[in-house]
Amino acid sequence: ASFGFREVPEEEKERLVGNVFTSVASKYDLMNDIMSGGLHRLWKDRLVSKLRPFPGMQHLDVAGGTGDVAFRVLDAVYRCEQSGILKKSLDLEADDETRVHVCDINPAMLEVGKSRAKEKGLGKAKSLVWVEGDAEALCYNDNTFDGYTIAFGIRNVTHIDKVLSESYRVLRRGGHFLCLELSHVENPIFKQLYDFYSFSIIPSIGDLVANDKNSYQYLVESIRKFPRQEDFALMIRQAGFQKVDYENLVGGVVAIHSGYKL
Ligand code: SAM
Repeated sequence: ASFGFREVPEEEKERLVGNVFTSVASKYDLMNDIMSGGLHRLWKDRLVSKLRPFPGMQHLDVAGGTGDVAFRVLDAVYRCEQSGILKKSLDLEADDETRVHVCDINPAMLEVGKSRAKEKGLGKAKSLVWVEGDAEALCYNDNTFDGYTIAFGIRNVTHIDKVLSESYRVLRRGGHFLCLELSHVENPIFKQLYDFYSFSIIPSIGDLVANDKNSYQYLVESIRKFPRQEDFALMIRQAGFQKVDYENLVGGVVAIHSGYKL
């Protein structure tokens, strides 16, 4: 089946992606829960457990949207402090020095994120920093961060290679790059089911909840066009990262790619 596949010019791609996130900024978290059956929460937990956040960490979450990943990073830092695991090796001010930057191109998403942070009582001090910016041209100096995450963000950018080279540039030596993204299912039977779900059900949910079928149709098509796991790992290596590997979750519905700037 062709599923109505079509080429989308770059300007239209930017408009469709922008539409999705502006039209659903306030419903974004609900949409995630509906479309993934709540699984996105577990996938993000897994992403952050691989990051192994620590007090004093300087972290950048790109395409951070409404803050889901950033909140988990901060939670993990607080848990670390409470358990006292790293306390001995850190001075008392360490917590004050933890910074989690949430960078997103869409201010509406960031606004929702800020209110959520307030409700959760997170990031009261200076630990959460909200930044409107483009993943392809980050407004940070070289060698700034210990960690970089991008969750469900890289698939929809115009130039994946620019995002990767920017992530490499802003990480310090030893810094950890992690990317959580919808990917490619290998098992042919599961793939048929998954294709049916993505191409028939997701656009209908988009229509029903966000009143925007086309943009969701486009987002689903973009999963197909995104490089396969091995190819994406190669791109990460080409950006300069080392010890690159990936983990498939739910048979490749999503994959977490990891690499280090060494
Ligand atoms: N990371 C969040 C999460 O997992 O819940 C949000 C993911 S959402 C699917 C994708 C986000 O990428 C949107 O908030 C969108 O505004 C942002 N985005 C798209 N293109 C971007 C770019 N070039 N630079 C930064 N953010 C971008």
